[in-house]
Amino acid sequence: MSAKSEFERLSGTFFFAGTHQKSNGPAAFKVNDPATGDEIGFVAECTAAEIDQVFDAAKVAQKEWWAESALHRAEVLHEVARKIKANRLELAELLTREMGKTFKESSDEVDWSVTAIDYYAEIGRHENGHVIGPAVAGQLHFTIKQPMGTAGIILPFNFPYVLLCWEAAAALVAGNAVVVKPSEHTSLCTLKFMEYFDDLPKGLMQCITGGAAAGQQLVSSPKTDMIAFTGSVPTGRAVVKACAESFKPHMIETSGNDPFIVMPSADLQIAARGAAFAAFLNAGQVCTSAERIYVHEDIHDEFVSLLVSEAKGIRVGNGLEKNDMGPMVNKRELDRYEKILARAIEQGAVVECGGGRPSGLDKGFFAEPTVLTNVRAEMDILHGESFGPVAPICKVSSLDEAISLANDSDFGLGANIYTMRLDEAMRAVNEIEVGMVWVNAPLLDNDAGPFGGRKLSGSGRQLGREGLDSFRHTKLAMIDPDSNPHDFWWFPYKDSESFQSN
Ligand code: NAD
Repeated sequence: MSAKSEFERLSGTFFFAGTHQKSNGPAAFKVNDPATGDEIGFVAECTAAEIDQVFDAAKVAQKEWWAESALHRAEVLHEVARKIKANRLELAELLTREMGKTFKESSDEVDWSVTAIDYYAEIGRHENGHVIGPAVAGQLHFTIKQPMGTAGIILPFNFPYVLLCWEAAAALVAGNAVVVKPSEHTSLCTLKFMEYFDDLPKGLMQCITGGAAAGQQLVSSPKTDMIAFTGSVPTGRAVVKACAESFKPHMIETSGNDPFIVMPSADLQIAARGAAFAAFLNAGQVCTSAERIYVHEDIHDEFVSLLVSEAKGIRVGNGLEKNDMGPMVNKRELDRYEKILARAIEQGAVVECGGGRPSGLDKGFFAEPTVLTNVRAEMDILHGESFGPVAPICKVSSLDEAISLANDSDFGLGANIYTMRLDEAMRAVNEIEVGMVWVNAPLLDNDAGPFGGRKLSGSGRQLGREGLDSFRHTKLAMIDPDSNPHDFWWFPYKDSESFQSN
């Protein structure tokens, strides 16, 4: 089926009990191809009754799923991964058309989704608690892991498939049902993605659509048992406040403002390529984008000229053509980013390259890869998330200064350093206050390693064994096989153990 007819078919639907259903809610969000501006479909704001129906179906399916063996859950999840892999090209095309990232980036995202599902399929059956040394001889003390029930997953627009899989795969192998609320800007491709979970019990994996109202209902309903949220800080705050009402467990992954340090011992050509990738991947719309580039003064000018040449070499255009960088997701995001850029220039930043919209691309939401120098530590651009294709460079005189500036942030997601000195690498790993540090390896993920941040970048972890535990309760059990009396602390207390007055 053509992408056009798929978008038409999926418009206005939500994924309920294994099938796409037409929502009775309003067609609340128009979907435009970010490369052309053309309208390609619409997303419904699901009604409260429809969402409630989804929760009820999830509850039934979860019971059936949890009654199965861990091996069965693993086998089904592997099958899901195989189907997604087999439909890689179609899924990638839909993602590029709806969100804008290049086809290569969309295809990579499908691949990463597959490896995440396969990874969790296995570790989900690996360990389900542990035996601990008993506090009383002869007893058995141990923990078991149990599902939370229905996990609500709220997603941003920038990585709709892979973030869904990082969280949903962990939730599913842990025995939960999942209700996904994708971004209103990437709902159609997510609705397509749902089809490949068809080996699961109907209702185990469902998708509701809409904006804040649908998200709020997911968070506040007594019918959801935990929330995994990925998105911006203000929305994350609203989610945490709503969860606080009922102490609902939540995992929060929010914005980043990652530093990228370049030291004199680095191979500058490679560091410049790494910086260009870290700043401009997905048009800078990555939570772990390099947002603050701190370059040692001894190599500053050489690094700037190398990075400028990398940035100028990036082909910007429609992600379905032979390009390296696609458009930003929509006009609102482009306008927001351009204001941040204008403010930096107003505060004294110098545009070394880019700074505007690429010529000849006036239809979509394109921005040029931009390198800024003369950026000083106090400028606004270094203290918020730009989430656009800009690499602001700030000159530093030492590693001490670079680390101190890296830590002068409300955010703490990731950090990068380019250096060939082991002492500098170790200091960066130990001293930068973030959840992840990359030494000469920008932005790399590993399904087996925990992903997440500190400070305003969020709390909790996805991926790795930590990510699995985000979706499981730990229960402690103690068994006395002989049902012995516990005389050492039960009634009646011995007189010899009472308070002895003089
Ligand atoms: P956003 O906060 O605007 O939206 C995120 C999701 O929340 C959307 O699905 C939205 O519809 C929903 N939502 C909106 N209001 C809500 C409410 N009141 N209650 C519940 N849900 C609500 O974020 P965005 O613009 O889609 O995404 C970009 C942000 O996501 C960036 O800040 C980026 O850094 C962050 N992000 C973080 C990570 C991470 O792992 N830390 C990964 C990717 C993106």
